[in-house]
Amino acid sequence: MIAIGVPAEGKDEPRIGLTPETVKKLVKAGAKVTVRSGAGLRSHFSDQDYKDAGAGVAKSDADAVADADVVFTVRRPELSLAKSIKKGAALIGMLDPFSDAEGLDALAKTGVSLFSMELMPRITRAQSMDVLSSQSNLAGYKAVVDAAAAFERALPMMMTAAGTVPAAKVFVMGVGVAGLQAIATARRLGAIVTATDVRPAVKEQVASLGAKFIAVEDEEFKQAETAGGYAKEMSDEYKKKQAALVADHVKNQDIVITTALIPGRPAPKLISKAMIESMKPGSIIVDLAAERGGNTELTKPGEIAEHESVRIFGLLNLPGQVPVNASSLYAKNLLAFLEPFIDKDNKTLAIDWDDELAKGTGIARDGVIVNEMIAERLGGKGAAKADPKPARAPAKTGTAKQAGNGRKAPAKKSSAKRQPKGDTTP
Ligand code: NAD
Repeated sequence: MIAIGVPAEGKDEPRIGLTPETVKKLVKAGAKVTVRSGAGLRSHFSDQDYKDAGAGVAKSDADAVADADVVFTVRRPELSLAKSIKKGAALIGMLDPFSDAEGLDALAKTGVSLFSMELMPRITRAQSMDVLSSQSNLAGYKAVVDAAAAFERALPMMMTAAGTVPAAKVFVMGVGVAGLQAIATARRLGAIVTATDVRPAVKEQVASLGAKFIAVEDEEFKQAETAGGYAKEMSDEYKKKQAALVADHVKNQDIVITTALIPGRPAPKLISKAMIESMKPGSIIVDLAAERGGNTELTKPGEIAEHESVRIFGLLNLPGQVPVNASSLYAKNLLAFLEPFIDKDNKTLAIDWDDELAKGTGIARDGVIVNEMIAERLGGKGAAKADPKPARAPAKTGTAKQAGNGRKAPAKKSSAKRQPKGDTTP
């Protein structure tokens, strides 16, 4: 029988990778599930809820993971926790693969197999496992709700006997998963929404959500999307033209939501100090790129900065502020990833290391780092490759290739390119 253990997260992380709903499914699939007492409380899942779903509740993290074949976490855990996990077990979570390679190497040396969900190839088969999408979608929503709450005016137009309240103007910069949800949310709240991106593919998506697309649409723009569906770093000439357009537009906006990212690079700076100074007092910027340095010159990651009565929200972990939904979706992502690796007959863990999803997300096996990008960052230390020993029939087909150069491992998309999620109802 496969055993699954779930420890508590650190104090800054309200989410959890297990819900009563996923416990039921795991138990049905033949698993024994143990969760650390109180671990779900910040997502409003009580110990009793887990027990009712069929899980055991352990008094300590070490007890929760001691017998586990699979440990689910949200964040990269402390080394001490990994030492409590038995060798050869799989630790699956958002392990932050692009920072602190030495820390990952130390985790790897415990002999636990590490899987980092951020590296999930973006192919059709892995849609239900895509944690970046499930979490960014909520971040896009929360960014708009936060902005609306802080904005000291109303968003929708209101015609009353006492006069007319004008609709607020919201500008969304970067129309990936988070940007699409931000547009949809701002539209629902009645704002007049404009949006920009460097990828031409988003133009129609923006229009379909009832917003207006604005961008520098030159020859470079037409080529700005990589084969993996991500943005390229734009030329200095393009950046200048884009800055002129943004400067002209931003001064008339009430709320700006920035989400622009380029895999493997710092977030592009799209809003200068001068642009912020041109905005009306009371305007709000929410910078979802804060974790990667921010899209504005004045973003302070983790803080709400204020400059000339414009507030710039650089708060981190927005999905963690909607923990009930974020945990539910994240736990389903984990379940969807694990299910194919449970041997249906023996009910044991059977990771197929030749499977592209295991290859894409797997960063350590048998004590060594097997992800090339992390191994390179370690300067060859711990870079040895483990023997591929598929534990079950190998390889489903697919086309994703992990290039290992960015937060979002650029994956070639399979033929059925995923539709963007703007107005998604998970
Ligand atoms: P992201 O978080 O990497 O970037 C956010 C947005 O910022 C992107 O739309 C990008 O084009 C834009 N951007 C980058 N530089 C910019 C600049 N200088 N100015 C303006 N905008 C800029 O993106 P994401 O949310 O991960 O989505 C990237 C793509 O992946 C999208 O096409 C999305 O639909 C697609 N996607 C595919 C799958 C799948 O097929 N499995 C899953 C999720 C997302």
